[in-house]
Amino acid sequence: MRATVMYGAGDVRIEKVPDARVTEPTDALVVITHACICGSDLWGYKLMPPGGPGRAMGHEAIGIVEAVGASVRTLRTGDLVVMPFAYSDGTCPFCQEGLNTSCVNGGFFGAGQMGGAQAEAVRVPQADGTLVALPVSRDDALMPSLLTLSDVMGTGHHAAVSARVGRGHNVAVVGDGAVGLCGVIAARRLGAEQIVILGRHADRLEIAKAFGATDAVSTRGEEAVTRVRELTGGFGVHSVLECVGTDDAMQMAIGMTRPGGAVGRVGVPHYEAIPASQPAFYRNITVSGGPAPVRSYITALLPDILEGRIEPGRVFDRTMKLDEVPAGYRAMNERKSIKVMVRP
Ligand SMILES: [Zn+2]
Repeated sequence: MRATVMYGAGDVRIEKVPDARVTEPTDALVVITHACICGSDLWGYKLMPPGGPGRAMGHEAIGIVEAVGASVRTLRTGDLVVMPFAYSDGTCPFCQEGLNTSCVNGGFFGAGQMGGAQAEAVRVPQADGTLVALPVSRDDALMPSLLTLSDVMGTGHHAAVSARVGRGHNVAVVGDGAVGLCGVIAARRLGAEQIVILGRHADRLEIAKAFGATDAVSTRGEEAVTRVRELTGGFGVHSVLECVGTDDAMQMAIGMTRPGGAVGRVGVPHYEAIPASQPAFYRNITVSGGPAPVRSYITALLPDILEGRIEPGRVFDRTMKLDEVPAGYRAMNERKSIKVMVRP
């Protein structure tokens, strides 16, 4: 089969690899109908040192179950399923608490020996706990929005939950990528009254406004902190969704949080220590977050998509074939595309 393999910064290739197949009784084999390129894939695209073994790419997908292992109970051949970016058994103590990304039998697609989803097919471990069957046909108009349940919509939601967004709160969203934009949807869905998006791309800010952002701030650093405080009565916001992962972004996030507020971070951190520890301490600011347990969030978010209350699929601005994926990485890296959908 064909699959996407990354060999180093700027070096993404479509290659023939051994066919994905069921190897454990708890596996399912899923033929991919829809996948996408993630903002987190761009970290490797910028920084991966060359010379090592290639890395299978992709962790977001919708597909058709082609085969299941002997002990899979809830899925059958032909089911249309959405795949969270992490697999999980659904039964261990952490899964039962809704923290599927800490599953004791879990792991991440496109990491270590696991195959990726920017491919023709993928082996899904712990299929019963991981996959969610979708009650629509594969050509349904809702497919782009349903695909965001793999990662970005659940991750934006996790940022909002971690930042303790509540009814009547004011919220800032740091980052105007697909996760930040979904964070705006999530904040509004949880009852935020004022939502300030921080970003610098007109097309993205326009989508943010359509999703419910009330204000936009396009400066950075101290200037941005001052502006957000001005917009929110001088104190800063109750909740900040940090959707970038850099030291600068976290510094800003803490700077604009009001005393007693919270920062929910979902951008993979590219800093060693959390910055602004002293101001965070003296203002009693909670910093929370991590890899979103999107599997457990699907239950809450799926009805909102099916019934048209939210439309996170609007973050996709390009659709490409598998062979075009290297161009998709380039477009997203150069900020010419917000998020690329892949149709293998
Ligand atoms: Zn588990």
